[in-house]
Amino acid sequence: MKKYILKSHPVGEPKVSDFELVTEEVPALKDGEILLESVFLSVDPYMRYKASMIPQGGVMPGQVVARVADSKNAAYKKGVHVLASCGWQSHVVGDPEKMKSSFDDSKDRLTILPDMGGVSPSLALGVLGMPGITALYGLIDLTQPKAGETLVVSGAAGAVGSVVGQIGKILGMKVIGFAGADDKVAWLKDELGFDYAYNYKTTTVAKALKESAPDGVDVYFDNVGGQIAYDVMLRMKQFGRVSCCGAIASYNDLGVPSKPPLAPAVQIPIISNQLSCHGFIVTRWMNKWQEGVLQLLGYVKQGKLKYKETVTDGFEKMPNAFIELLRGANTGKAIVKA
Ligand code: NDP
Repeated sequence: MKKYILKSHPVGEPKVSDFELVTEEVPALKDGEILLESVFLSVDPYMRYKASMIPQGGVMPGQVVARVADSKNAAYKKGVHVLASCGWQSHVVGDPEKMKSSFDDSKDRLTILPDMGGVSPSLALGVLGMPGITALYGLIDLTQPKAGETLVVSGAAGAVGSVVGQIGKILGMKVIGFAGADDKVAWLKDELGFDYAYNYKTTTVAKALKESAPDGVDVYFDNVGGQIAYDVMLRMKQFGRVSCCGAIASYNDLGVPSKPPLAPAVQIPIISNQLSCHGFIVTRWMNKWQEGVLQLLGYVKQGKLKYKETVTDGFEKMPNAFIELLRGANTGKAIVKA
């Protein structure tokens, strides 16, 4: 069995050499234990700051969809798929009662994935998992969006942003997305039904919103922080609402002594436009997680919620897939197929 440990804390953009592949023998199963074999592994932006926090030698964290490859526990039959928080590991042996399914420190147990009506179990890492729940509740619960309002989403072609924009459309909003490549912009407009989408690398937020939101923005779902966040917030209506989800524009500043993660001072647009800004961590919604997954699955089945996965082949490519995610190579959810 293989695992990736953190060899050195990344300085700026992570490098493949910051991670070390370790190979170990699979131990024999004791009574009550199971052997999990990772099938799909998630790479997510939060892993960048985890890589600055976990001790050197620690296993990189993360969620996986795994198959029970062997079992001495009647509750976990060989062959079933589970959602597990195993991190960057090809296999894990242990007592399933002590394993968790969610990332970080939430208290849930290992989740046996139900039959999701023919959709790939990998969706439990994306549209039907943590990013989907982030989008659904981060938008609806925190910003109380209404039909006819104008929604802006940054990081719009990613795992979270693509779901946010489509939920905005389901709710009857005008949806404007920002993403970093022309093919992503085309996907947002032509397939996901965004009203407007822009490549923030080739146009300015000011120019884009002058065209698409001349009367101002009601709701901003912020996946990136930094200059884009500042520029959108300046163009919000009085009492606009902001869901502060992520700040990927500054994650690679972690560990760079000369580059503390400083964003433009967003206080000025927050004060002058009297904005309500809600920071959150998705685990706050553990109590209604399953309900949210079923709602998202319903939208997928009705054809109202489309998704894409950017799949990297091979467990050994975990660091590459992670680095490419931070560079913007993914459209939709970035995953690794072991
Ligand atoms: P994505 O699938 O959106 O992948 C990351 C994307 O970020 C890249 O594809 C890239 O797209 C974009 N990006 C990279 N660098 C920059 C930059 N400097 N400026 C603008 N965009 C950049 O990731 P997720 O959907 O999984 O996550 C989106 C955000 O939501 C992240 O900030 C993440 O940390 C946050 N998050 C927060 C959660 C919470 O509980 N608060 C839970 C889950 C996610 P592009 O080509 O468009 O630049």
